[in-house]
Amino acid sequence: MNSRLEIIQGDITKLNVDAIVNAANTSLLGGGGVDGAIHRAAGPELLVECKTIGGCPTGEARLTEGYNLPANFVIHTVGPIWYGGKNKEEALLRDCYRNSMVLADENDIRTIAFPNISTGVYHFPKELAAEIAIRAVQGFLENNEKFKKVIFCCFDEENYFIYKDSYVL
Ligand code: ADP
Repeated sequence: MNSRLEIIQGDITKLNVDAIVNAANTSLLGGGGVDGAIHRAAGPELLVECKTIGGCPTGEARLTEGYNLPANFVIHTVGPIWYGGKNKEEALLRDCYRNSMVLADENDIRTIAFPNISTGVYHFPKELAAEIAIRAVQGFLENNEKFKKVIFCCFDEENYFIYKDSYVL
């Protein structure tokens, strides 16, 4: 058990952390789900900054400011669309969590919150996604003393209970 890991149910746009992670798409120009909620809460300046980045490949991560969000930064990462599991979906989802942590670390971020990347319209199986997320973040924290808190912010109750169950793995 890692005391720096926390599982909560709620709206990630409300969290007062150094950075929240956005489950974006490759265009970085906004979308539905958590992406839409983050852009609405941050305000139009977020889209202006995102347009200067020029997109992001699946599995990678990019940093912007948080504008009107309580969080100072947004880390935009692009989860894989689930095509049945034979298209490197698991490795790409692991990359999302790991690359987000690396980028956060490089920018002296100490508290970070993740949504359940790819488990919405991208249809990644929720149990498998939770296992990958928890393992990737725990693995990163084992070799990093600087992070103070990593929050898994589950929006739906199903994911919240899956995370609570997976956490003992
Ligand atoms: P993806 O395209 O990566 O599947 P979605 O935004 O469709 O992205 O879904 C990712 C997860 O984000 C889903 O589990 C969804 O329930 C969750 N979600 C949606 N809105 C919010 C929010 N405001 N805060 C946290 N999580 C959210």
